[in-house]
Amino acid sequence: MASSLVQEVKAPNGVTYKQPIGLFIGGEFVKSKAGNMLETINPTTEEEICKVYAAEEEDVDIAVKAARKAFKDESWADIETFERGKLLYKLAELMERDAKILATIETMDNGKPFKVAFEDDVTECVNVFRHYAGWADKIYGRTIDTSPKKFAYVRHEPIGVCAQVIPWNYPLLMAAWKLGPALATGNVVVMKSAEQTPLSVLYLATLINEAGFPPGVVNILSGYGKTAGAALVQHLGVDKIAFTGSTFTGKQIMKMASVNLKNITLETGGKSPNIIFEDADVEQAIKWAHSGIMSNMGQVCTATSRIYVQEKIYDQFVEEFKKYVAEVSVVGDPFEKSTFQGPQVSKLQYDKILGYVESGLSEGAKLISGGKKHGDKGYFIQPTIFADVKDHMTISREEIFGPFVCFSSFKTEEEVVSRANDTVYGLGAAVFTRDIERAHKVAAKLEAGMVWINSSNDSHFGIPFGGVKQSGIGRELGEYALQAYTQAKAVHVNLGNRK
Ligand code: NAD
Repeated sequence: MASSLVQEVKAPNGVTYKQPIGLFIGGEFVKSKAGNMLETINPTTEEEICKVYAAEEEDVDIAVKAARKAFKDESWADIETFERGKLLYKLAELMERDAKILATIETMDNGKPFKVAFEDDVTECVNVFRHYAGWADKIYGRTIDTSPKKFAYVRHEPIGVCAQVIPWNYPLLMAAWKLGPALATGNVVVMKSAEQTPLSVLYLATLINEAGFPPGVVNILSGYGKTAGAALVQHLGVDKIAFTGSTFTGKQIMKMASVNLKNITLETGGKSPNIIFEDADVEQAIKWAHSGIMSNMGQVCTATSRIYVQEKIYDQFVEEFKKYVAEVSVVGDPFEKSTFQGPQVSKLQYDKILGYVESGLSEGAKLISGGKKHGDKGYFIQPTIFADVKDHMTISREEIFGPFVCFSSFKTEEEVVSRANDTVYGLGAAVFTRDIERAHKVAAKLEAGMVWINSSNDSHFGIPFGGVKQSGIGRELGEYALQAYTQAKAVHVNLGNRK
């Protein structure tokens, strides 16, 4: 790698590593044609970490062409499926080897606690790559007999060049969720990382090379959404788009994807409800309700941000939740072992969340705790609890994406299901009860892609992840994601029917 395309970075935890800063195209790091760069900020210190090259339309074009070439190249197109799986296994191994560096970068660039980045995010990426490594030689088609003389076989073929646009809340994990199934099924990828968090995914690119993926199979571009992102999703050489981010951007992408009817999967926003019935195990419900909204600084698309508690236990629940937050949600330096909550990812997100505090107060919700910035430096916000929130209030309707929770009480099962479903979103939903019949009945009625019974925000690489309504189209993870990256080709076979 040219020395101008790599920068030595010393992280606050003392880890020193070589940060690639170029665009990763055709197996090499290169400068952007126009030479434009974007600055990436450490949200803990508000200081620049480094600058990386930012792709523009012409760079996107070069990356898409590199991917298209790789798709047809025998080094990838003719590789045995088992060998494809071995490349993914190797990548998992290399991530495990460099887990400390990867987690360090994630913490520095995104602000999430190092413990979480190391133990959860990177570990989960490794699991995801291993899971899909196992699928690579198990992409089976079917045969369908229609008469003694005719049948068809169905091939599950890769779609081609996949544009993958990822967000900043889980940079590495979102990359793994998208790369795993795309590569296991033989596609090629041009990924655009989020402008707030380009660093860990660029480092991942060095591991992709080291693992031995042929050049051009994976291309990674840093860049802004409105320029690089828009150019990528509109490119006629792109066959599929997989996007995670806001519903607003998802809608724009859907329109842009229509230029050549691209196959599309979207994982967008949410305003997920958490329903606590009076017979719930309150201690457990508090623990999960807390992690369901306060983990990852509340920057989770499935965050259970609307908590409905049955009237009889409402006051007690809110009071105990407040105490639990005070005890567990330790806000501070994300490299400190004791920290539960680091800074929000950017000044923009920080301002947006504090704006919702104003909105909640002005619409008459009751602030129970938090609601202010934390400390003098960095984008830290106190964990914020609002109670007695009415369903029409902005804080109950819009995705806030912060450590910010809305409580309200309910009387009956029918009422709470209807209120939980009264949203444009449909990503996750949680229900806490000891009544097994009620749990499954409510789970069936909730309009969501995922329901958690007596937990919140549980996820596993083998279980489909995605939303209904305006929370998305299609599913990631597990076997379901393979469908998103393959298309069926029916080959009709005539064994002598001459009619
Ligand atoms: P965003 O949707 O604008 O960005 C997500 C990704 O899309 C980034 O890579 C971005 O560069 C890209 N992008 C933006 N505009 C694009 C365009 N016109 N064409 C192609 N790509 C484009 O999200 P954001 O602005 O970073 O955050 C705004 C809000 O979105 C947050 O407050 C939160 O509510 C929500 N969000 C949701 C998720 C999720 O996981 N569902 C993730 C991040 C943000």
